Amino acid sequence: MPAAPTRFHDPGVTADAFHRSVLVRCPRCARVAHYAQGRGQRLVCRSCGLSRRSTGPDDGFARPELWLRTETRHGTLWAYNLEHLDLLRRFVAATLRERDPWYEHHRKMTCVGRLPAWIKRARNRDEVLRALDRLRMSVVTG
Ligand SMILES: [Zn+2]
Repeated sequence: MPAAPTRFHDPGVTADAFHRSVLVRCPRCARVAHYAQGRGQRLVCRSCGLSRRSTGPDDGFARPELWLRTETRHGTLWAYNLEHLDLLRRFVAATLRERDPWYEHHRKMTCVGRLPAWIKRARNRDEVLRALDRLRMSVVTG
């Protein structure tokens, strides 16, 4: 019996919803660290204890390289954090996403609607899912 189709409902969020809490590569130990952006910027690494806070707009504090980022044959896959990664995974895994009329109407504005075409292609699905799962595992083993 074939597996039941999986329907994806775009929650309608934009990538901006995720960029305040980001997994990054620690500039000191190169393991996974946490970067937060609100009124100021903050970088915390539980591996090496690095803790930095921005002191003002001119202090040169920049977000380190994203942790959840990997190259595939088609292009770069990336996510700000695990919540973002999970949204991408559910989107890529879904087989019925293009049939939802609501989705067609709103997709241009949302986070998943703005994904490049190669991520949405059915024939790339398995490869993209494997890459997303590798990213998820890298947070555990980080
Ligand atoms: Zn560190």
